[in-house]
Amino acid sequence: MSSTFLETPIEYLKGVGPARAEMLKKELQIFTFGELLTFFPFRYIDRSKFYKISEITDDNAFIQIKAKIVRIQTIGTHRNQRIIATVRDDSGEIDLVWFQGLKWIAEKLSPLQEYIIFGKPSIFNGRYNIPHPDLEIPPTQPLPLSETIRPVYSSTEKLKAKGLDFKGISRLMKNLLMNEKFFVPENLTPEILKQLHLVDRKDAFINIHFPQSSELLSKAQTRLKFEELFFIQLRLAKQRAGRLKKHAGQPFLKVGDYVNRFYNQHLTFELTKAQKRVIKEIRSDLGSGYQMNRLLQGDVGSGKTLVALMIILIALDNDCQCCLMAPTEILANQHYQTISGMLSGMNVNIQLLTGSTKTATRQLIGEGLLNGTIHLLIGTHALLEENVRFKRLGLVVIDEQHRFGVAQRAKLWEKNIVTPHVLVMTATPIPRTLAMTLYGDLDSSVIDEMPPGRKSIKTKHLYEPDRQKVIGFLRDKIREGRQIYIVYPLIQESETLDLKNLVDGFKTILTEFPPPEYAVGMVHGQMKQQEKDAEMKRFLERKIQILVATTVIEVGVDVPNASVMVIENAERFGLSQLHQLRGRVGRGSDQSYCILISGYELTTEARQRLSTMVRTTDGFEIAETDLRLRGPGDLLGTQQSGILNLRIADIVKDEKMLRYAHNLATDIIQDDPLLSKEKNDNLAHHLLQMDKHSQNWGLIS
Ligand code: ADP
Ligand code: MG
Repeated sequence: MSSTFLETPIEYLKGVGPARAEMLKKELQIFTFGELLTFFPFRYIDRSKFYKISEITDDNAFIQIKAKIVRIQTIGTHRNQRIIATVRDDSGEIDLVWFQGLKWIAEKLSPLQEYIIFGKPSIFNGRYNIPHPDLEIPPTQPLPLSETIRPVYSSTEKLKAKGLDFKGISRLMKNLLMNEKFFVPENLTPEILKQLHLVDRKDAFINIHFPQSSELLSKAQTRLKFEELFFIQLRLAKQRAGRLKKHAGQPFLKVGDYVNRFYNQHLTFELTKAQKRVIKEIRSDLGSGYQMNRLLQGDVGSGKTLVALMIILIALDNDCQCCLMAPTEILANQHYQTISGMLSGMNVNIQLLTGSTKTATRQLIGEGLLNGTIHLLIGTHALLEENVRFKRLGLVVIDEQHRFGVAQRAKLWEKNIVTPHVLVMTATPIPRTLAMTLYGDLDSSVIDEMPPGRKSIKTKHLYEPDRQKVIGFLRDKIREGRQIYIVYPLIQESETLDLKNLVDGFKTILTEFPPPEYAVGMVHGQMKQQEKDAEMKRFLERKIQILVATTVIEVGVDVPNASVMVIENAERFGLSQLHQLRGRVGRGSDQSYCILISGYELTTEARQRLSTMVRTTDGFEIAETDLRLRGPGDLLGTQQSGILNLRIADIVKDEKMLRYAHNLATDIIQDDPLLSKEKNDNLAHHLLQMDKHSQNWGLIS
């Protein structure tokens, strides 16, 4: 079952010299035959179908037309020079435009010749044109059936310059598949192939690159998508099984003074049913003797922090130290304040460690951690530093997990001989399919209920010209004693320009709400920590009524008296960010409001985002919509995982297949946790290959 063929360096392929090899590596990360083979077409053209020029309406999709050149012009000089070839079919005319490689194009174009033209129309000065199309002289004979479906590969300008446009890549693919040594090992078991009616792997690769028919193409796609999803699930299932076996956890069996005292004397409200259920789930992990690795999802304000606190107290009752890591200093501070407040008088030594902690204090904290006098350490990334060592770390709580890199989380594991229990909290609900793929080796708990008495936040989408109305509304709310957030997006790459945007907004607000009658504050990412904290503190203490901010306030900050959230340029925010921001209000008992302000000109997607926000406050629904609108690749935090660099499958479109793959992988691992049974040889072998190619690929926490 050798796979050396697939591991052959790409420069050994016919048609790939050193220069092209270099480009393939640089531009497409293709180093081996195998990597070229899994460089799949992103679409297919049916070469027997042609558009009429008059039918061109969409300025996005690739199209194919058949037309004659009626005019060739060279326009502009030097760098602005371009060639425009006007072509005509029996329905109309369109311009083909080239900006580069003009000399070559000029020689190639023959007037009055009919061409098959393939490209992506765009619109310029109200007219459609096709920039840098592919041209081909129509074949004199009708195409054989096997050549009517043509694959299209994505390429780059640099690759094209080396002759590797999509046709060039296709030629390489042909060389690969025609290679006399061409061999791809089957990686699924005969049983799975039979059960799911999948075509074998070799046929799938041939038909994905050179479809013999649309039916065979679709079979090839199904097979390769399934394979991709299945092995991710199999790896996760295996890791999970391995983790359970390998990492004995410290069993937290006791519920003692800390928990009891807090529950009976400090907790001023009844826990929600969801909180109780989740605490029970976590407790059963903690008592199991295995290391816990659990994801706690719950909408903003659903009471996750409180759950974490209860779990921390359980750890303390079992003589363990804990740490709580937050993504920003503001949040770490806030956790520190809230938790210190809630536990005051309980004899819990809590310390705060962030980037701005002074060296002397750091030293003291270091000692306290080592001799065990510090019970709970709250902080930011600073907790990950090498010299932060505990005497007996039993529990790590990570708040707002997607801000942290995978590798960073792994670091926390190493802080103890016995791996600490890990609880990862996220306020961004993760759609089930995504969670399955991203966090497949974590257990998951969901708080799906809000504490009682919360009024649903009223959300409105308004436009720039409504601003005076908004100002009037804000005045009313301030008169009622409420406080207001006004948030500006990061618009430019440049931090200085962002700041300008914010400062301009701040000035406008100041003229509408002048001192001494009003007090307006501002926080942004470039302020010193102390300044930020001071400003937040003034807001908390109601010394300012309006806080103008960038998204630094996005996560976690808790000011119950703030009941209005105004989001400027709301169209520029992603859905999950909007949802997070809105979650800053509605934390008290007053009716809260979220006002989204945008320009009139909105993309369809922006419009959908804003209307989703107006329609619902359900975080899971919002997350699902976000996933559908943007695809998983763009969701916060998924890039870093590397797991969603799917080559062919799509967890939204192929959701059913994903679920199937998940269940099948789970069953197989349950039956054969180490994949050591002979019938699973193919699977085991392929997982090994995958591991070779991506280190630490699935280390989630
Ligand atoms: P999250 O971390 O999920 O955003 P928090 O734990 O910060 O939510 O809780 C939000 C607010 O609700 C806090 O002020 C908290 O004290 C309060 N809270 C939490 N649980 C309950 C409950 N069961 N009943 C009433 N208030 C609660
Ligand atoms: Mg929180």
